[in-house]
Amino acid sequence: MDIKAEEVLDALRDRGAKTECDQCGSDKFFISEGDDRFVMHIPMTTNEDELPASHDTLPCVAIACGNCGYMRFYARTIIIEIVKKLRGDHA
Ligand SMILES: [Zn+2]
Repeated sequence: MDIKAEEVLDALRDRGAKTECDQCGSDKFFISEGDDRFVMHIPMTTNEDELPASHDTLPCVAIACGNCGYMRFYARTIIIEIVKKLRGDHA
């Protein structure tokens, strides 16, 4: 499912997520540098001595503070659920 950057921010607002930066207090968060490729896959493993297999990842949505660069990560699965609900609400 493709989601737009603004839908991610709407999803966070819908759930009452804090909109100010934890580090500098700015409210100028952004998701990407002008496109919608903001989903990241964080490698996961139960064995710290081995690199994880390429398919063992946690899909995340990353947002960054436009003032200081501080980054936050959200579980993509949850964001998708909220976006689906909001799309339904506005359909
Ligand atoms: Zn900041």
